[in-house]
Amino acid sequence: MVKILNYINGALAGPSQGQYMDNFNPAEGKVYSLVPDSGIEDVANAVTAAMEAFPSWSVLPVEKRSRMLQRLADLVDRDLDKLALAESIDTGKPVLLARRMDIPRAAANIRFFATAMLHFSSEAHITDSAAINYTTRTPVGVAGCISPWNLPLYLFTWKIAPALAAGCTVVAKPSELTPMTAFLFSELCIEAGLPQGVLNIVHGAGAKAGQAIIEHPDISAISFTGGTATGKKVALTAAPMFKKLSLEMGGKNPNIIFADCDFEKAMSTSIQSSFTNQGEICLCGSRILVEKSLFEPFVEEFVKRAKALKIGDPVDEETALGAVISAAHMNKILSYIELAKQEKGKILTGGKRITLSGRCKGGYFVEPAVIVGLDHQCRTNQEEIFGPVVTIMPFETEEEAIHLANSTAYGLSATIWTENLKCAHRVASKVKSGIVWVNCWLFRDLRTPFGGMKQSGIGREGGWEALKFFTEAKNVCVKL
Ligand code: NAP
Repeated sequence: MVKILNYINGALAGPSQGQYMDNFNPAEGKVYSLVPDSGIEDVANAVTAAMEAFPSWSVLPVEKRSRMLQRLADLVDRDLDKLALAESIDTGKPVLLARRMDIPRAAANIRFFATAMLHFSSEAHITDSAAINYTTRTPVGVAGCISPWNLPLYLFTWKIAPALAAGCTVVAKPSELTPMTAFLFSELCIEAGLPQGVLNIVHGAGAKAGQAIIEHPDISAISFTGGTATGKKVALTAAPMFKKLSLEMGGKNPNIIFADCDFEKAMSTSIQSSFTNQGEICLCGSRILVEKSLFEPFVEEFVKRAKALKIGDPVDEETALGAVISAAHMNKILSYIELAKQEKGKILTGGKRITLSGRCKGGYFVEPAVIVGLDHQCRTNQEEIFGPVVTIMPFETEEEAIHLANSTAYGLSATIWTENLKCAHRVASKVKSGIVWVNCWLFRDLRTPFGGMKQSGIGREGGWEALKFFTEAKNVCVKL
């Protein structure tokens, strides 16, 4: 059985206490590798290595840092098939999705920030011919990067790439549920010749290794992506230590569908935005709001297409939905289906565990569920389920659509479907979400600010925002 190793100070090593945890293949429901159960000592070693590497990495000419990171991106591209298969086995997601989305995006993240840094400039302000102000930006020091299980290498690189490009050194912890591609990535770092200590990857449980990263006094900035409840814990520890903090958290995203939309595009994209990656994407729309005159035909067609989605072995190229991440998560999803029933919702399709035959017979597969008849304030419509479950609700007016869209504690993303541009702009301006897509979904430009409002996040990632986060601004005012 494969033993995953930590990557500390440029070398692969087991956890200092020698303890490992089981790592499951969700499509089989079986343990297939072991992940280090790292603790305070491993994190301390990683931070020491990162601190020692910081002085030389942070002053390395930016072109050299850029070239090193681009070499890493090339290696990710080279290993596309291997990494995609590893991601699929570790998460249960279709291998096709990992090959088309997760791994190419991981390479793109690294390449984007490696080259963005070449163009990252400082500002100068002339004050009434009396003074010149110039602003320097220097890397914050050692950054702690904590990422979740749903898009493992994709989100891991989304954090470490801007940190490293900005000149920080990094201590990163992937989710204990999906450590494999970060482990393979550490091998690529060694192959690329990344100087020792620049990136350190400590595997382990959130409450132990993750918490030790947040608490470490020599880590100056924390970039966290995960659930809102965990984000709250992270903030409780990091905020009183005055660390820089970026929190990307959960969502309960609305899809607002007006009657004048391009029906086919709205329908096919809504199926994707509901069920891609088994609904385990923070940007998935889980509350579909449909204008009343379109409600019945929309629901009828949506249910037909949800039923047609092929659930199966993730390595089968025909599979649309693979397994959800764990038995615990599957049970959480199924408990929300029961809750929806208690809340008088009507399950039009799905919501049951599926047992496949062959090697996947013990896997965690859930049929995509479509629910109607629920009040917008019930728990099913307020709490993040993070699985293949959507509710559909009717609205009569634009104001009502906006009211329903904004009626949760979250504010990550929203989609708006209409052919009326004035309406699209009006609604986009009033929806309280950090990201709004009009007539599309998950159409990403890495230069744009990414992040949520309300309980979905604090701060923004992407483009200059990320490079600003990992650097500290200093203004120098020179009196003329
Ligand atoms: P999670 O349970 O909050 O875990 C996220 C990460 O934090 C994992 O690496 C976890 O480690 C670690 N962690 C847990 N407790 C910690 C602690 N006390 N201190 C430091 N780190 C700790 O989230 P998840 O279940 O992995 O991911 C799903 C959630 O992420 C959903 O809510 C989803 O919406 C959100 N998400 C948000 C975005 C976004 O961009 N806004 C993107 C993707 C996902 P372990 O896994 O080892 O426990």
